[in-house]
Formats: sequence, C-alpha cells, structure tokens
Amino acid sequence: MAAKCARTPGESCVPRESCTPQEGACILRGVNHAPGESCASRGVVCVIGTLPGAARERRAATAGPVVARRGGGTAHDLTGAEPIGSDAMAAPIPKAELHLHIEGTLEPELAFALAEGNGLTLPFASQDDLRAAYSFQDLQSFLDLYYALMTVLRTEDDFADLADAYLTRAREQGVRHAEIFFDPQAHTARGVPVGTVIRGLARALDAAPEKHGITTRLIMCFLRDHSAGSALRTFEEARPHLERITAIGLDSAEVGNPPAKFREVFELAREAGLKCVAHAGEEGPPANVWEALDVLGVDRVDHGVRSMEDPKLVARLAADQVPLTVCPLSNLRLRVVDRLADHPLPAMLDAGLMVTVNSDDPSYFGGYAEDNFTAVREALGLDEETLRALARNSFQASFLDETTRETYLKEVDAHVF
Ligand SMILES: [Zn+2]
Repeated sequence: MAAKCARTPGESCVPRESCTPQEGACILRGVNHAPGESCASRGVVCVIGTLPGAARERRAATAGPVVARRGGGTAHDLTGAEPIGSDAMAAPIPKAELHLHIEGTLEPELAFALAEGNGLTLPFASQDDLRAAYSFQDLQSFLDLYYALMTVLRTEDDFADLADAYLTRAREQGVRHAEIFFDPQAHTARGVPVGTVIRGLARALDAAPEKHGITTRLIMCFLRDHSAGSALRTFEEARPHLERITAIGLDSAEVGNPPAKFREVFELAREAGLKCVAHAGEEGPPANVWEALDVLGVDRVDHGVRSMEDPKLVARLAADQVPLTVCPLSNLRLRVVDRLADHPLPAMLDAGLMVTVNSDDPSYFGGYAEDNFTAVREALGLDEETLRALARNSFQASFLDETTRETYLKEVDAHVF
C-alpha cells in the first residue's frame, strides 16, 4: 500500500508513491490533485504550493498567490496571475545535456500544431487527452505512443520547430550545451528523407547560440531493434550530410539486440571521423556495456546503470573515466528503478565513475535537465557540491572543443546555488 506523502507543499512528489497535497495544482498537468491521489500515477515532476528551498526564499519578497514551477517552458501561476520569470527563481546550474532524444521532446501542444499544419488528425480529442496518454506504465506503451506521434513530423520546418521548442525549454533549465540524438530510421521508414530531418534540425541548431545561448552537437542514432543492414543503409543515406553529425549512437529496445550486431556501421562511422556512443546497461545486462566498449569502441555509454552489477566493469569504467549518461526520471518511469530513492547514482559516484545526469525523452518522462537535477537532489539527498560535480562532468564528457569547455566549466565553478 502506498504511504501518504509527508512532504510539505512545494516539494517534489516524484520520489513518493503517493501524495496528498493540501493546496495548489500540478504544474505539468495544470490540474488540481484530489486528496490522496498519487502524483506518481500522473507521471510528472509535480511542484505543489510554494516554491522549494532557496527559490522559496527568493520568492518570499514578492507578493503573489501559490505558484508552481515547470522546468521546461514558462513558469505559470495556475490561478491565472502573471507568469513567474526566471529572475524570480533560483538560477539553475549551467549544464550540458548529453542524452536527449529530440523526438522525445515533442509536447502535446506542438504535436497538435504540427498535425494541423500537415492536415493530420491525431487519435486524441484534445491536448489534455493526449497529455493523459503520456502517463504510460511500461516501455511498450511508451514506444507505441512515441512512434505514433512522430507521424506529425514531415517537413524541414517541422523538425526545425521541434528542435527550437526544445532549445527554448533547455535554456530555462540551465542547459548551455546540448548533444542531441535523432532517429533517422523512424522518419525514413515513413518516407521522410534523412536530408529533410537533418536540414530541419540543423537550421534550429545553427540559430541556437545566438537565439538561445546554447551550443549543440547532433548525434545520429540507429534503432537496434532494426537490422544491421538497415543501419548501414541509413548511414549511407546520411553520408552527404555527415558534416552536420558529430557522433553516431544506438538506441531503442536493448534486450535481444546486443551492441555487436552493429559492429560494421560503427567501424564505418569511426573511419568517417565520427565519435561513437551507445545505449547499454539500461534494461540489458553488463555484458552489453562490455560489448559497447570493446566491440563498438564507444566514447560514452548511454545509461549504463546496470554496470553496477559487475565489479570488474565498474573498475574498468572508473579507470578509463568512461562517461555514463544517466537519466534518473527515465529510469523511474521505465521501471529500471522502483523508486528514485533507490537509484544507483550515489553508488556510481562513490565508485569514481564519470556520471552525468540527463533527461532522455523529457516530454514523456516527466522532466527536462534541471528537473532531473532537482529530482535526484531531493530523492537522494545530494548536496550542492555533488550537483556541481555532476554539472562539471556533463561538460567534461561532452564533445566540445577545449576552449569552449573551459568557458563553461568556469560558469559552473562560479555558480551560486
Ligand atoms: Zn535514451
């Protein structure tokens, strides 16, 4: 039986099984919770009542009703007052986002707008109906919705709009650099040429330094539940656009699709001068992390949380300082951990691993970059210097040039919580 949430208004409900807020509304859903209603069942980072911690103190000087903060986009007072600007909030620590699927940033508002623009009808009566569908309970229901919604992405403009919407949210979350995944096969299979995808994304990314103050890299991922031949064909289709690509990656259903299946396309990518990353050790065993390292030669491992089951692997990862792009809220939503309080992140840090905190598919998993930082801070009791170390790791593990990396690291060191 779920315990009642003992937290005070303003604290995150995510780590708790059940929450009984006394006042306020869930910012991500924009609805009031009924007493006893589980916030976890809504699958969101939910901030109810007054602002937490330092932000509450900063906010105290300003008059106004109960406010709630949403990590992405604007922070609105749900009672209808003026939006709360970022200057009224604690500034999020500067960070790099290294594990972010651009298709996983598609919010219901944009999905409906793109569907209308393309003359498509979504099988949902309203944005609220679609938002409710985001509260899936397992990997398959997530993937079903994830791929179904991608059908609204058709034109270069659609992909540019998607990336620009993400970058707008990312900036408000303290993201200063983003290395963004995309899944070309999810689009080419629908008849959208890979060039359309890359040109659209690149248009938004090119504008990002000036428009959003964010530097970016693009990582082309292959769907591991498709064939090795499909990955090779996709790589060749993308070859004319490789100057826009920094790295290749490997994602989607891990179990039954080990890294070695894609040895050939990773060799081609390395020959073309690209960096390599791969999802491994998320739902699959530590053996997949070994393969990603030794067969694919990856520069980073995405997720990698199950590495902790193999002490020899932990020693290897620590010795080589192989970055692991951990995604706490994703792990919670996909049941890699039952409770965020059980997450292995502290043990990974204690083992000397190069861990970063990221958001994966934030529209679906309940939070963007700073939302993940906030969630682990609260659930795992991380102190400010640990959060600073995680932010430093994010830039250390990035594919940035050294000069830019040093600039960002100085911003992290100068950050005041
Ligand atoms: Zn991922």
